[in-house]
Order: sequence, then C-alpha cells, then structure tokens
Amino acid sequence: MFRKTWLVARAVGSIGSFIGHLVSRSAWLRIRRIRYRLYPPAFPKHAENEQRNIVVVGASMAGYHAAKSIAESILPDSSYRVIVIEAHDHFHFTWVLPRFCVVGGHEQKAFIPYGPYLRHIPESALRWVRGRAVSITRDSVHLSSGEEIPYEYLVVATGAGATDTLPSRVDSDDKPEGITKLKDIQAKIKEAKNLVVVGGGAAGVELATDAKSQYPEKSVVLVHSRDSVMHRFGPELQRAATAGLKDLGVEVITGERLIGEDKERGVVTLKSGKEVECDYLVNCAGQRPNSALIAELSPGSIMATGHIRAKPTMQIDDDSLHNVYICGDVAETSTPNPNSRSAMAQAAVAADNVILAIDGLNPTNKYKPKWLEALIKLTLGLDRSVTHIGDFSGTEMLFPAKEKDLALMAGGAWKHMGAIPFQDDSETLEKFLTKV
Ligand SMILES: Cc1cc2nc3c(=O)[nH]c(=O)nc-3n(C[C@H](O)[C@H](O)[C@H](O)COP(=O)(O)OP(=O)(O)OC[C@H]3O[C@@H](n4cnc5c(N)ncnc54)[C@H](O)[C@@H]3O)c2cc1C
Repeated sequence: MFRKTWLVARAVGSIGSFIGHLVSRSAWLRIRRIRYRLYPPAFPKHAENEQRNIVVVGASMAGYHAAKSIAESILPDSSYRVIVIEAHDHFHFTWVLPRFCVVGGHEQKAFIPYGPYLRHIPESALRWVRGRAVSITRDSVHLSSGEEIPYEYLVVATGAGATDTLPSRVDSDDKPEGITKLKDIQAKIKEAKNLVVVGGGAAGVELATDAKSQYPEKSVVLVHSRDSVMHRFGPELQRAATAGLKDLGVEVITGERLIGEDKERGVVTLKSGKEVECDYLVNCAGQRPNSALIAELSPGSIMATGHIRAKPTMQIDDDSLHNVYICGDVAETSTPNPNSRSAMAQAAVAADNVILAIDGLNPTNKYKPKWLEALIKLTLGLDRSVTHIGDFSGTEMLFPAKEKDLALMAGGAWKHMGAIPFQDDSETLEKFLTKV
C-alpha cells in the first residue's frame, strides 16, 4: 500500500516536473528571440540567400513533433529551414489499428491529415516532401523519385514495422488504400470461424479480445511465445490481461511458436507439434526498426535488434556524424517499453539540441527514460480497458475502466494534431508542399 501511494506521489511529481520543463523551455525560446532582436550578430551569419536544410525523415510520433518543434523555433531571416520527408499521405494513428481491424465504420479516423499541427509555422521555415528516402550520405538524402536533398542537420525518425501489415501497421502510403485494407481484414475476421492471433503484446491482446467480444460465437486462439501475455510489463498487468482474455472465452496458448500454416486443411502448427484449427491467421508479433538508411551510412551503429544506437543527446552514437539525430522506435535508448510518449520525449530532446547546434552551441539536452512514459491503456474487449503504470522497481498500479467510445482516443489524437475530428484537410499542408 505504501509503495503504491509513493508511486502516485511520484507520478504527480513527474507531471509537475514535466510542466516545469515546458515552462522553462518556453522561457528559453522567448529569451532566444529577444536576444536575437537585440543582438543579431550573436548567431552565426551565413551568406545571403544560402539555404541550410534541417532534414527530418519520417513524420510520425517522433519526426512530426521534432519537425514542428524545430520549425517553430527558427528565427526570422534565418537561413535554416526544416524539410520533412514522409512517405504516407496522412499520419497513421497506430493506437486504433487493432480495433479498426475488427470494428467497421471508423476506418477514416486512423488517418489524421498532415498539416494542421503546423498551421502556425511560416512557409519559409518548413517544406514538406511527400516521398520515400532510399539512401543517406554524409551530406544528403536521396529519394525514390531521384531527388537529392542536402542537409546540414538530419533527424532520422523512421520508426518500426515498415514491412509489417495490419494490425500493427498500414502497409500503404495512401489513405484510400489503407481504408480498403482495414475493410478487407474486417471482412476476413467476420467470415472466419476459427481465428488465430499470434503475438501476446498489446496489439495481439487487443485484437483477440475485440474479435471475441464482437463475435462471441467464433473460436479465438491467442498464441504467444513467452510465458505470459504482455510479458514486457509487470505481473499485475500480465494477470489482468490474461483474465480479460479468458473471461471473454479467448483460448490463450503461451510458451509456443507458430511454425506453419496449412490453409487447405485449415490448421496452424505450433512448435510442440500441436495443431490448432484456423481459417484466418492474424500476425501481431514483433516489429523490426526501420534502420536500413543508417545501416549503410554507419553500420557500426546498428544493433542486432536493428535499432540505431543513440547517445543521450539523441545524436547517433557515431562521433563522425555529430549532425545526425535519431528518435522514436528506430532508436535504442534503453526505454523498456517504447511508445508514443517516449518517441515524443526523444524528439523534443533532438529538436532542442538541433536548435542549440544551429545557434553554434553544444547540444546539452539529454534524454533519460522516465517510468511514467511507459503508461499503457490496454483494451480488453469493446467495452472495457485497464490502464497500467509501473515504475522500474516493480511497483505497479492498475485502473480498470468501462469504455463507451468504439473509436477509442481517435478524436483526442486528431485534436492534439490540430485537426478537427474527423474532417479531412488536404489544404493546410499545401503551403508547405513545394518542390525543394
Ligand atoms: C498497433 C499499435 C498500437 C499502439 N498503441 C499505442 C498506444 O496506445 N499508446 C502509445 O503510446 N503507443 C502505442 N503504440 C506505439 C507507437 O505507435 C509507436 O511507439 C510510435 O508510433 C513510434 O513513433 P515513431 O515516430 O518512432 O515511428 P513510426 O510511428 O513507426 O513512424 C515512422 C514514420 O516514418 C516514415 N518513414 C519510414 N521510413 C521512411 C522513409 N524511408 N522515407 C520516408 N518516410 C519514412 C513512416 O511512413 C512513418 O510515418 C502502438 C503501436 C502499434 C503498432
């Protein structure tokens, strides 16, 4: 009991220190602007009309936030500008994907229009390139279109799961195609009598419980390779997730791996030799970081997991590339449960260090994983959820809740991104969408 009270007190303290950080950051940026007005020569001078690019590759939780934070701090008449390179035409809101693979009628809510988040940023401070980066050298980024974009500073925020399909990622750059893919999987789940879900992380647990609560008559089996579902979290959440699955009637098989699927016979085979009836298989297992672009430039920075080693300043852990920053799911930062909060916290550190660097100062901001970042809200069927916080010492707290909104937190995410739920908006980005 004491440990839980202490956990709550520390959570309140952490929120207070986060607000304190926002206030001191805002004061720093204000003072920087005032100083620029009073003493413009204090900042490095560049030749007139010389454009210097801060290129951000990937605009999801990490890159979009980093691009915005840097662009809104670019001083008037600065020769610097941010160039965002992003392959998707909309921001993919991953949190709702397992739900929208089961429940129809909300698909468009997973695709948040790019642009409104940047509404207040002047055109001169940011350019947006819709395209895919295919290689990176020490001074430029090359796109699949053949375009080459030189950079002085680079932020790599390419995330994870590029080769994954639903329910983890939408493997399509266009919103209409993404919506079609969501509808396809909904139809396949609806048709299936025996559904097998592989992977007992959040996506697998959420999809399996949603499917069983939407279609109680179906057999839903969840196969997970570890001893318990949600194994990256503490035992209390593991127990709550297992109970949630079992209460709905999902069969949970742990300590097993899927080694084959026989579509004709309608079975999958597990490592132990056990066969499970299956007429539709959904893979929710592990995602690989998208580090191929850096693997060519700095092979020594890539870990066996595929993550890119980051310094606490969020610079790549390669001293010859001091101007290259990484953040989000692609970066290795010792965060136990990488998620959107940790991605945005890393992006904020990278952004502030880039701002220092363009002012000719050393990057001194450091990212340290915070236990509160690992907070998770896990749905356990269409009408209930459990929110979990746990610190790095093993103290955990669970907050079960009833859920009414089938679209989960999509409306809040749209608002956070400056968009009006659920009005698509292709115009706001237009002013940034020009040829480089
Ligand atoms: C199903 C699911 C549910 C989740 N639910 C939650 C949740 O409830 N709460 C939470 O906090 N976190 C959740 N997460 C985790 C969260 O989505 C990730 O931690 C977060 O998206 C990481 O952000 P990122 O910017 O690092 O990378 P990503 O979101 O992976 O985005 C990478 C971006 O880079 C772009 N990109 C990649 N390569 C290139 C290239 N070569 N050229 C141009 N663009 C490129 C991609 O198009 C993409 O937009 C969930 C994840 C999944 C899969």
